Amino acid sequence: MAQADVLVLGAGMVGVSTALHLRRRGLSVVLVDRRGPGEETSFGNAGVIEGSALFPVSFPRDLRILLRHALKLAPQSNYRLGALPGLMPWIAAYFHASGRPGLERSARDLRPLMVRARHDHRMLAAEAGAQDLLRPTGWVKIYRSEADYASAEAERLLAGELGVACETLDTDGVLGLEPHLRPDFQRGTFWPECDNCSDPGGLVKAYAALFEREGGLFLRGDARTLQRSGSRWRVDCEAGPVLADRTVLCLGPWSMDLFGRFGLRLPFAVKRGYHLHFAPEPGVTLSRAIVDRAGGFCLQSTRYGIRATTGIEFALRDDPPDRRQADMVTPLARRLLPLGAARESEPWLGRRPAFPDSKPVVGAAPGHPGLFLNFGHSHWGLTLGPGTGLLLAQMMTGDTPFTDPAPFAAERFSA
Ligand SMILES: Cc1cc2nc3c(=O)[nH]c(=O)nc-3n(C[C@H](O)[C@H](O)[C@H](O)COP(=O)(O)OP(=O)(O)OC[C@H]3O[C@@H](n4cnc5c(N)ncnc54)[C@H](O)[C@@H]3O)c2cc1C
Repeated sequence: MAQADVLVLGAGMVGVSTALHLRRRGLSVVLVDRRGPGEETSFGNAGVIEGSALFPVSFPRDLRILLRHALKLAPQSNYRLGALPGLMPWIAAYFHASGRPGLERSARDLRPLMVRARHDHRMLAAEAGAQDLLRPTGWVKIYRSEADYASAEAERLLAGELGVACETLDTDGVLGLEPHLRPDFQRGTFWPECDNCSDPGGLVKAYAALFEREGGLFLRGDARTLQRSGSRWRVDCEAGPVLADRTVLCLGPWSMDLFGRFGLRLPFAVKRGYHLHFAPEPGVTLSRAIVDRAGGFCLQSTRYGIRATTGIEFALRDDPPDRRQADMVTPLARRLLPLGAARESEPWLGRRPAFPDSKPVVGAAPGHPGLFLNFGHSHWGLTLGPGTGLLLAQMMTGDTPFTDPAPFAAERFSA
């Protein structure tokens, strides 16, 4: 039977990064996934590697805005009515965490992870030979009205306080950066401290190949076969069972399939989101991600075409897809950038693994010696994977963590 020091379950950006950092600390590591690396949530995101993200995406608190969302008039969100009763406790906790104190706390807790994200990715991408997937071009948020711009003032103030670069631009200023946009907006803010990734799934595959080159082992298997075997852990892979002293759950949205089985009670849900690719019109280019707040979408240039990603859909993880949001944002995206035909007939559906405070859980599973958790990266898992992978590897090997891990402990939900 194959043996390892550590089993890492799930080979998205988070699992691959965790496995790589554990391997670099001299441990024998088996990384397990039922698919190839980076083929789920980490494949289809907006490809923004953030250095400047501050407030998490929040639940609206203004009654007028709430009503628009409830009536499904806002392109930023959608919900599946039948899912709401089951999701209500989570949504209530998300609503609570979306107050100013909660948002500030999460922003400040996440800062040490955000500030290193671009550097971590650039180092790993260079080692993996994948640096051509990253563009250090920052991103732009556009505002269709002065009121829309004013509503983001708190974010700009916090950026000033924390020294995060942000430049306010008028329409011409934005067009100077992205000449092919149509001036369907009043203002923009340019956030230079972020990188754009043209193939997030490809980046994960490159990091996974690096892990294997450095002596790690990737196996296909079903994480749901995980069980205790004496003082060790066992998981069944296609190549046979593997035994290890320690296990890390990095299953993103599928983490809920396992932590409940071990009696862990965590307020976990998924925020679903979609993408579609469009052929760019001849001569049209896009150098950086463009976020249209009022339109509820992000445009990114990828190797698959111009990728339009949507906001949040509240639904159960495995509910059938609903193309409503993709259909709502498509005409808005076309008004902003000349786009050709959609390259897929159905939008891709992804599931952001999320806790109400928008922070992941990183650390030991309470009451389960040898079991560790690294999931729940919400809107920022592409960005934060290498950072939380390093943090957990440091904690598991007795190194001094680069930042205080307490804000990410599972115990924060039982306090
Ligand atoms: C529309 C959208 C846009 C986004 N934009 C951004 C962005 O611009 N920047 C950013 O930083 N983040 C973004 N995100 C968030 C980011 O994509 C996620 O936080 C991140 O991908 C989560 O990574 P993960 O490794 O935890 O999960 P995943 O990538 O989903 O990996 C989990 C892995 O577990 C495996 N698995 C599941 N069940 C089993 C099983 N039973 N056995 C074995 N393996 C199993 C899966 O196959 C998968 O490979 C976006 C997300 C969405 C949906």
